[in-house]
Amino acid sequence: MKILCILYDDPKDGMPSSYPLKELPKLEKYPDGMTLPSPKGRDFTPGELLGCVSGELGLRKFLEERGHTLVVTSDKDAEGCAADKELVDADIVISQPFWPYYLTRERIESAPNLKMAITAGIGSDHVDLQAAMDHKIDVVEVTYCNSRSVAEHIVMMILSLVRDYHNQHRIVNEGGWHIADAVKRSYDVEGMHVGTIAAGRIGYDMLRKMHPFDVHLHYFDKHRLTPDQEQALNLSYHDSVESLVAACDVINISCPLHPETEHLFNDELISKCKPGAYIINTARGKICDKDAIVRALESGQLSGYAGDVWFPQPAPNDHVWRTMPHHGMTPHTSGTSLSAQARYADGVREILECLFDGEEIRNQYLIVQDGDLAGMGAHSYTKGTATGGSEEAAKFKK
Ligand code: NAD
Repeated sequence: MKILCILYDDPKDGMPSSYPLKELPKLEKYPDGMTLPSPKGRDFTPGELLGCVSGELGLRKFLEERGHTLVVTSDKDAEGCAADKELVDADIVISQPFWPYYLTRERIESAPNLKMAITAGIGSDHVDLQAAMDHKIDVVEVTYCNSRSVAEHIVMMILSLVRDYHNQHRIVNEGGWHIADAVKRSYDVEGMHVGTIAAGRIGYDMLRKMHPFDVHLHYFDKHRLTPDQEQALNLSYHDSVESLVAACDVINISCPLHPETEHLFNDELISKCKPGAYIINTARGKICDKDAIVRALESGQLSGYAGDVWFPQPAPNDHVWRTMPHHGMTPHTSGTSLSAQARYADGVREILECLFDGEEIRNQYLIVQDGDLAGMGAHSYTKGTATGGSEEAAKFKK
């Protein structure tokens, strides 16, 4: 089989010759008891860069020993890009949400051999799921592999936004000591109302991680948690997004992007937020209307916005979120720490081993199977596509 793997570029100054930590902590299981990805073999050193082109997700030896062809590229957007050329006879496409290869209907229809799209990470909205269902292409992802990495990032972003860390850090870098300037937008999180849209693996873990900060915790999810889960963190459940946003000082977004959630945070919903609220979005950029966010930051309806997800990706160099006031944006990094990379590289190999050996892929990893939503896809997504407008990614200039 031909496996096409789209990964982000290597570091500008080449692959590192050493890394800060000599080894990663050993994790046994996820909090709900699910086991970590468990392939039969591994040809990489955990803690090293795997998500970039030279890292190859540690797959080359394994695939070539089994007689498969691996093609790896980062060139994925402009017309005539390497990925489009290689796609036409590919059997499997592997892509990461950080540097997504948008598998639009047109691309899917250019690839008659395509059987499976694997997300090396979580969130398969870069695939036109409707077209995948129509063409019986299975879509799978490595559920849980980086959920807790993202939850850590959310906590960092809540604290840095509310305490106004970025501004204070900038003052130091500029050689200054202007305390009044540094604190004129700085608050304690303690006592605030912190809520999440979606309390899945990421959302619930972020609530768990925020619990010791002595805040009031809220959530809305289309699947209500169990009474035990709610009581453990003293959670207030809301039966609508509107109800949650009206009650919270800090609003976290952790639902997948699908037709139900595309542009959910528009002018109307933002006007229903508690005035001066902060939004953290590490789910997908397109869940927010980008211009509505800018307008709300400029008017003061929002006090801050942080996240690591944009639409499209890479974000055009002039994307308005790069320059809007009071933002704490990073490129899409929260789920691709060196720690997370080892887990999703293992997960991709586990999926490929199952596929080649005719074994069942874990139900939790399934998004689309046999022409329908399946596994986590059936739980979390609605049918349709959210890839519209992704061609704008070609505007990014390195
Ligand atoms: P999960 O499947 O465990 O949780 C998703 C939750 O969203 C589920 O509880 C589901 O019921 C809920 N949901 C779906 N549609 C909803 C709606 N319309 N309203 C309210 N709730 C809704 O997945 P997860 O591991 O928590 O990841 C969630 C999302 O976060 C992913 O789909 C992906 O888009 C994003 N993500 C981002 C990164 C990153 O690096 N920034 C990494 C991993 C995941």
